[in-house]
Amino acid sequence: MRRDEAATKPRTPIWHPFTQHALQPEMTKVTRGKGAYLYTADGRRIIDAIASWWVVTHGHCHPHIVSSVQRQIATLDQVIFAGHTHEPAEEVAEEILKITPDGLDHVFFSDSGSTSVEVALKMALGYWRNIGAPRSRIVVMEHSYHGDTIGTMSVGARGTFNRTYEPLLFDVSSVPFPVQGGEQRTFDALEATCRRENPAAFVVEPLVLGAGGMLMYSPRVLAEMKRICEAFQVLFIADEVMTGWGRTGTLFACEQASVSPDIACYSKGLTGGSLPLAVTLCRGEIFDAHYSTDRSRTLFHSSSYTANPVACAAAKANLELWKDPATRARLADVVAMQEQKLAPFRTDPRIANARQTGTITALDLRVADAGYLAGVGPRLQAFFASRDVLLRPLGNTVYVMPPYCVTTEDLDCVYAAIGDALDSLPHAPPS
Ligand SMILES: *Cc1c(COP(=O)(O)O)cnc(C)c1O
Repeated sequence: MRRDEAATKPRTPIWHPFTQHALQPEMTKVTRGKGAYLYTADGRRIIDAIASWWVVTHGHCHPHIVSSVQRQIATLDQVIFAGHTHEPAEEVAEEILKITPDGLDHVFFSDSGSTSVEVALKMALGYWRNIGAPRSRIVVMEHSYHGDTIGTMSVGARGTFNRTYEPLLFDVSSVPFPVQGGEQRTFDALEATCRRENPAAFVVEPLVLGAGGMLMYSPRVLAEMKRICEAFQVLFIADEVMTGWGRTGTLFACEQASVSPDIACYSKGLTGGSLPLAVTLCRGEIFDAHYSTDRSRTLFHSSSYTANPVACAAAKANLELWKDPATRARLADVVAMQEQKLAPFRTDPRIANARQTGTITALDLRVADAGYLAGVGPRLQAFFASRDVLLRPLGNTVYVMPPYCVTTEDLDCVYAAIGDALDSLPHAPPS
């Protein structure tokens, strides 16, 4: 280690996620969250314009979720979930099946978006093996992100985030992202791959590819990809970890395409963003293929905290909130506000591809150096921080994904900061 590197080593022993400590020695210390705001130790109030990494839906410390969690932790904090069950998990499973696409009828609990996708892959391979027609190839979409475990990195885009770990990743088949006007290439590639490789499953983020840069495609494309998978009996896995819980304007993105996936993954907003929890839902046939007196056909997956009762109580409270028509009305308001705030940027020559799906808006800055490692991302982030706005651009892509309690005044602050950031940057000439 060079001496100057040692000199800037952080004082904290904590190693933060996706953080280059040599470039970001100081962490913002947050003491409290309420609604759309985070409050810091040094007395600032920050607008949480990315919902604390896409998880917070109804707002921080929503009273209904907080009281449900408080009641539960004083009653049953944790119990082994093999051979045991509890009311919060039963209720979450029952309620979630009422609102998710038809055909999904079993619920497997885990702790994070990544594990929910891992479980989905294991369900798919278990299904094919147990029906006596083993398949193991997985098809993915270019630019997709499904998590940071070895398995989910394998089914995600290869690049900066995982180059070091590539020797451990398994091989998959990838179809091009359906850019507008080029959708047929995606369909043709998916069809050819299904025909040639007899894959076990296609895993995809419906309508919006999040970490890949908030790339958006239409419900029609989603429906057509599902149709192709059906034609070749390839299991369709919808990773709604980010798109679920209202993010795309409907409760789940698949609704907009009337798609019933064979397997669906939900996490992030499942607890309203309060506690870690995930579920993987599947069709009856997939559960049935594992249902046997033969123990070797078991779905071999668990984690210590599977279906933790406190996390389930938070999810239960979230599901109750979604039963309230006011929640749906609020969602529609956020979609409309976002549309209105984005409008002026659609014609700004310094911006390419201003876009929106539901509550998510995104825009690409025309800068000379645009990759994730380009200097523009951290510079923008620092600028937004100086304005007490939490935004975390993906390279040159700035996106806004607020909690649904955000006000029009909050969004005015957020978009004013984006506009001013544009003014402060050197620009590539419009192409
Ligand atoms: C965030 C995300 C994941 C991973 O979820 P974690 O809870 O961070 O493990 C998986 N898929 C998608 C689409 C995501 O956005």
